[in-house]
Amino acid sequence: MLNLLDLTRSQLRDLMRTWGQPAYRGDQIYQWLHKNLVTDPEHMTNLPKALRQRLAAEALINPLELLFQVDDARGETRKALFRLPDGSTIEVVLMLYDKRRTVCISTQVGCGIGCPFCATGMGGLTRNLSPGEIIAQVHWFERWLRQESPDSEGLAVQRPSRVTNIVVMGMGEPLANYDATMQALRALADPETFALSARNITLSTVGLVPKILRLAQEDLPIRLAVSLHAPTDRLRNKLVPINKRYHLPKLMDALVRYQEATRRRVTFEYAMMQGINDSAEQAHLLVDLLAPLHRPHVNLIPLNPTPGSPYQPSSPAMIRRFQQILEAGGITTTVRLRRGVEISAGCGQLRQAAQQPDVLQFIHG
Ligand code: SAH
Ligand code: SF4
Repeated sequence: MLNLLDLTRSQLRDLMRTWGQPAYRGDQIYQWLHKNLVTDPEHMTNLPKALRQRLAAEALINPLELLFQVDDARGETRKALFRLPDGSTIEVVLMLYDKRRTVCISTQVGCGIGCPFCATGMGGLTRNLSPGEIIAQVHWFERWLRQESPDSEGLAVQRPSRVTNIVVMGMGEPLANYDATMQALRALADPETFALSARNITLSTVGLVPKILRLAQEDLPIRLAVSLHAPTDRLRNKLVPINKRYHLPKLMDALVRYQEATRRRVTFEYAMMQGINDSAEQAHLLVDLLAPLHRPHVNLIPLNPTPGSPYQPSSPAMIRRFQQILEAGGITTTVRLRRGVEISAGCGQLRQAAQQPDVLQFIHG
């Protein structure tokens, strides 16, 4: 079935023409979808009744069916598992901190990169998400936040409010689904409709070099985060297998060019794994590796252990030492505990847990 959120504004105008309607109906529908977040054509009150009926019969708007949601104990994260029309499942997370309301979105069902510490990577790639399936994830939480309600349902948030940030850090490698991801982010950053500032959108990638160079040419000033996890090719080949194709000298060269073109700072994610990538020597190597960049920032994330994977998080003392070496080398750092470890909020972990029979029983009551 046609998903209306998959269409750009001009594609909606074209659709209306092929349906024998004036093109401006497409603009009206676009407003209802992307500004008012309407999910039922019946509520598009400025459309003729017959058109509303045809839309209801032939198109869908919200492709997400909520299967399951979990909050962490402090009420700072809510993680939702959704089913798509083809039966695939994806995860989306709302995170509340620093006065932000951040939605972490997925771009693929599964992921083909296969990083051995990542729950999403373990199952391989099922398929790309469509633009509408990506947009709908943000709209879903936005609708909940916009609701006038004295009850925050246990989350540390006041309603009505709005989504303030998006991180493309859920399931999948966004740059491997480049066109759909960019179409979705453009719609969300459209100043006339959803109007989220592109500067409040962060896209995380493993470093697909040709796509980073393409991103550098886009006129959409989103922030870029690169999942590094290792300072040498030898180790990174193991932890992030795509490194064999785009090894570190190539990646760093692309990032230097990205920075020259965009004048934007690049953030690196580094999941700290005990005895694997957390030594003092590796911290010094990381300082050297990042030297060609202007003001690099490193996010040190204690690994969230995935069932079935041998990797364990580094100790707080090791993380502190690693951080001190980076800071002494002129690199700014943050240590970010992945929120909601207790609700399996690591990338793809809820979906993995949901495949266990006892959790499925919980979902279906
Ligand atoms: N595929 C993209 C974006 C999704 S993953 C990427 O890899 O960048 C978002 C971040 O979560 C990445 O930095 C990824 O390496 C990290 N991650 C995945 N599994 C993790 C785990 N078990 N513990 C900590 N970080 C993890
Ligand atoms: Fe894919 Fe990112 Fe997980 Fe690697 S860390 S398998 S690229 S989702």
